[in-house]
Amino acid sequence: MRHAVVTGVSKGLGESIVKLLLESGIHVTGVSRSGNDKLNEVASENRVTYQHFTCDLGDMNSTETTFRQISEDIFSQEPDTVYLINNAGVLEPIDQSMNTKGADVSHHIQVNTIVPIVLTNLFLKRARERDVRFISTTITSGAAERPVYGWSAYCSSKASINMFTRTAALEQDQLKTQNKVIAFSPGIMDTDMQEKIRQSDKDAFIEVDEFRRYKQTNQLKDTDTVGGILVDILTDETSIVNGKIYSVTDYL
Ligand code: NAP
Repeated sequence: MRHAVVTGVSKGLGESIVKLLLESGIHVTGVSRSGNDKLNEVASENRVTYQHFTCDLGDMNSTETTFRQISEDIFSQEPDTVYLINNAGVLEPIDQSMNTKGADVSHHIQVNTIVPIVLTNLFLKRARERDVRFISTTITSGAAERPVYGWSAYCSSKASINMFTRTAALEQDQLKTQNKVIAFSPGIMDTDMQEKIRQSDKDAFIEVDEFRRYKQTNQLKDTDTVGGILVDILTDETSIVNGKIYSVTDYL
């Protein structure tokens, strides 16, 4: 049995990833603040289970309690492979770095960086204790590798994810476990996150006109296409390169 845990499943890329995992015969547990009824239907059509947990990943206590329960439930079923896909993410605050508020930066780093690290660590430990194959993926961004005017929190949080991925993978290699830790950069996709970007003030985000043009000229990718590439990578388990920062652009 293969079981995946995915964060940020109510819409966007997360919704597509869950749908495609269920269609591949993988049981899924999804976490976000709002639910998604469509995913229950996809699960029953494909005779696999889908369970949703409501949790605000901005709240560390609630996140740790929720994921302790999820990991105990899954690992006690003696699965062959467990996947964790840290997909939930936020872009705000969008502003010149010096104008951002501490509380907004703190929330951002909590959701985009701290939670993926804490969850990956929790699952790595459980997988080692139970001798189960575990594959962790965190959704990163091209913004991890280039500074973007107005996105200081986002560039920093995604750059941290890339370095965490490489470090945790190095440890798992040296410990000779069967676990893999990777990141996946999905490119620009047609989601609510892009809609918020297009609403930015030019003083806060200098590239806003270019992002409006991406939408007008149909350059935003469809989340099912991008999610399909990730699910293909994950389900070809023996080919996964531990520590690799995968990019969708290598597959399109
Ligand atoms: P989206 O449409 O804005 O969806 C974000 C998802 O994250 C939602 O399901 C949301 O669920 C969840 N989420 C946000 N804050 C949360 C919180 N505090 N607690 C629990 N869940 C939370 O975003 P997307 O475009 O699909 O992005 C998915 C991933 O791709 C993100 O990591 C993003 O950084 C990355 N990415 C996106 C693009 C792009 O062009 N869209 C480009 C590069 C990278 P609830 O609101 O229901 O909680």
